[in-house]
Amino acid sequence: MTDTSVGSSQRPLRVAVVGSGPAGFYAAGALFKQKDYEVTVDLFERLPCPYGLVRYGVAPDHQKIKGVTRVFDKTASHPNFRLFANVHIGRDITADELREHYDQVVLTVGCETDRRMAIPGENGDGCYAATSFVAWYNGHPDYQNYSVNLEVPRAAIIGVGDVSMDITRMLVKGAEALATTDITEQALTTLRRSQIRDVYIVARRGWAQSAFAQKELSDIAALPHVQVHVDAEQVSRDLEAHPDLSSIAKRKLEYLVDLGKQAPRRDATHHVHFRFLRSPKELTLRDGKVDALDLEENTLVRSDDGWLSAQGTGNIESLAVGAVFRAVGYRGVPLPGLPFDQRRGLIPNDSGRVVDAETGERVPGVYASGWIKRGPSGVIGTNKTDSVETVSKMLEDVPTLTVSSSANESPSIDELIKTRNIQVIDLPRWQTLDTIERERGSSKNKVREKLTSAEAAWQALGG
Ligand SMILES: Cc1cc2nc3c(=O)[nH]c(=O)nc-3n(C[C@H](O)[C@H](O)[C@H](O)COP(=O)(O)OP(=O)(O)OC[C@H]3O[C@@H](n4cnc5c(N)ncnc54)[C@H](O)[C@@H]3O)c2cc1C
Repeated sequence: MTDTSVGSSQRPLRVAVVGSGPAGFYAAGALFKQKDYEVTVDLFERLPCPYGLVRYGVAPDHQKIKGVTRVFDKTASHPNFRLFANVHIGRDITADELREHYDQVVLTVGCETDRRMAIPGENGDGCYAATSFVAWYNGHPDYQNYSVNLEVPRAAIIGVGDVSMDITRMLVKGAEALATTDITEQALTTLRRSQIRDVYIVARRGWAQSAFAQKELSDIAALPHVQVHVDAEQVSRDLEAHPDLSSIAKRKLEYLVDLGKQAPRRDATHHVHFRFLRSPKELTLRDGKVDALDLEENTLVRSDDGWLSAQGTGNIESLAVGAVFRAVGYRGVPLPGLPFDQRRGLIPNDSGRVVDAETGERVPGVYASGWIKRGPSGVIGTNKTDSVETVSKMLEDVPTLTVSSSANESPSIDELIKTRNIQVIDLPRWQTLDTIERERGSSKNKVREKLTSAEAAWQALGG
């Protein structure tokens, strides 16, 4: 007798993945790797081009890291994989419609918005969200009308994670060193006009609590025209005061002490300064434009659970800066019709199984992975571990699925898409666009020249 159960060759497990960043591709990869079930994966992406933050977040001068897309391309070459780019779930197709068409839906939509500082002056001209700035220089279609004024001598970056380090490097590296990357021409022109010479990195807590990776700062310190100012004595004191640091954090602080002791570069044209134990309090505006940033000094207070939090002392330092970038965290965006944890800014889940935010009850057939599952942390590879966990839960649940599930009876998703008049960019179309981008780039001695809108992509494909 023919086996027609879900996951058999007659009736494969039908999975929809929403979001084509690392978590989405790693989920698809894990589904294809397992041997228990026959699986088909349809991957939906709201933008015309795939790869999420690998394309639109990772800095243009980190091309080696962007090379991880080769792993995703291998997954995409599986005969049971289909790409549906330029399809916005929640707008073009609802979450309920997806659930009707597939046995399982995996949400890997990332964290697309930013946290705010909630201080006076934050809406002034010259105060920028890291999310927007990064997306702008990386050619994200939603941010190409964005305008940034870098024709100011001093800038501050709020937050001291790897995103802050990326922004610092982009501001001090020099446009010519980025000219051969896949940065947009518009961003390159703006960076060429940049007058920024001093960058202040502001953090609420101390050196020992800072989240940035040592490599990110050492890449900046290695730039011959840049002086990174580190107070070696202050770092040494922090090192002594925190004997319980992880070995990685300890090594980073030892590196910082060494860096602080190095002879200053007298010919440096660009300077990076740190303002630790400072919280942003207010942005002073002149004619609506950022003119200064007030910082309140903090001390660290240990709570009962051992957490060190910053407490204001009332002492204020004012920095004269014309641009402020807030890099205080990314946050998820709710998907209509699905649970969302407003406080944490992510989709509530139990090891990847989506649950109701209030009752904790499971939402059958719906899963999450990546940043929208655990929050914006970790490196690209962390999403692989995350997706493997989610996929293991999905596979555990397969025996509970029945062939009579609605996914069997609905008209095909392709028909639904046709009725909506959506201009899908499928895998062959994306492969053509990829070649076009590389060719356009190569004529300018660049890695690629990105197509920065759905319209431009369609035009490049011949309309
Ligand atoms: C500025 C920056 C620099 C970084 N640099 C590095 C680095 O150098 N090295 C490193 O290891 N990690 C880096 N990271 C971290 C890494 O990018 C993330 O860990 C990873 O991209 C998260 O993967 P994800 O799949 O969860 O989300 P994302 O990569 O954000 O992918 C989510 C995808 O879902 C799509 N989507 C959203 N909503 C919908 C919808 N409704 N319908 C359809 N599609 C939707 C989005 O368009 C996007 O393509 C960086 C992150 C940032 C922000």
